[in-house]
Amino acid sequence: MKKKGLVSTCIILAVALALAVITGISFSKKRNFQEDIVIGSNVTGDFMLDEYNENLKGTVGDVKVYVLKGEEEGGKVLILGGTHANEPAGHMAAILMLEQFQVSKGTVYIIPNICQSGLTHNDPLEGTPQYLHFTTKNGDVRTFHFGSRASNPIDQWPDPDTYLHTSGDWTSDKIKEGVQTTQTLSGSEVRNQNRCYPGIKDGTVTERVSYAVTSMINELKIDMVIDLHESSPEYAVNNAIVAHQDALGLASDTKLELDGIDISIRLEPSPAKLRGLTHRELGDYTDAYALLCDVGNPSQGRFRGYTDEALAITGDDACYRAAYAINGGTLLYVDYSAGNFPLALRVARHVATCAQLILSMNFEIDDAAREVIVDNFEDADMIEEFYNDLVEADDIGLWLN
Ligand SMILES: [Zn+2]
Repeated sequence: MKKKGLVSTCIILAVALALAVITGISFSKKRNFQEDIVIGSNVTGDFMLDEYNENLKGTVGDVKVYVLKGEEEGGKVLILGGTHANEPAGHMAAILMLEQFQVSKGTVYIIPNICQSGLTHNDPLEGTPQYLHFTTKNGDVRTFHFGSRASNPIDQWPDPDTYLHTSGDWTSDKIKEGVQTTQTLSGSEVRNQNRCYPGIKDGTVTERVSYAVTSMINELKIDMVIDLHESSPEYAVNNAIVAHQDALGLASDTKLELDGIDISIRLEPSPAKLRGLTHRELGDYTDAYALLCDVGNPSQGRFRGYTDEALAITGDDACYRAAYAINGGTLLYVDYSAGNFPLALRVARHVATCAQLILSMNFEIDDAAREVIVDNFEDADMIEEFYNDLVEADDIGLWLN
């Protein structure tokens, strides 16, 4: 009897050890996996984000900023992807633009993985995939992270019970007297990149990254910043542009132009009291037009069923089809009539929106010296053609290097 107990204890210990080794290898691989960004001749340079906050040196938050500078001097645009690493359209759209945009005038800066820490792990109990794979037209398989909404607790721990967002040392004469610049949030939001702006120079790694972005925009005098996101199909701010009040004019122009090529998009003004977000703080603490773009992502929503890489890429989910069938689709804020909402469509929406925002910015500023021109997205016809081609092909890989 004693011997039998010893044997079963040894078996349980061996299984536990094997599980610890397997999950440890998987964890370590995810933590250290570096995405392979294929640099074309359109990328004219790069630098590390620590140039704008030396406290990022040696941390996971010290990411590369890619520079697409035209031959002619002009304005400056910054595109942020990967703020929330469980929203793959923002991350992949930034990479696609980095590999596709041919800038002839002005400069486009692209940071595809602004929350690198969030890309290195997954949200507990969500069952999401760790990676996404795409095959390029040359037949190469390229692998990208699917990550978490928040920075990895390994990089900043523990979370406080409540997170008091502050504006740190930043001051701004753009904020009306009496408007509160601090806000209390739930503790885990301390790891949410999009609650940590304008950032704190020597704060958590998430706050340090936000500080560097705000400083970079101020020092380089960037004209417009666009932060790319996704959200649950049942979330109201969906397929939308959220604009700081200074950017509402150009965002309205973009909405009208996109409506004109059958890309329906909502326009939401940035709430004045919602602190910590890009479209609020980067508009308040810099002179850039600050905008956030959102698109519906079934692999992130609460109604979804089994979650895997296929769901992240196809957006095809039986539970969302059932939800859409109720009350004429009014439970959802995306058009789920096709029974899916694929990543290619979501990325196409983001790229089309960014390209049109650049055109609208040129129109709004109306100063040739501050123009940004992307040769292959120079007008609405080119944007429409790209959008239709990508939606029809339904394959991002064909647009990757
Ligand atoms: Zn997001």
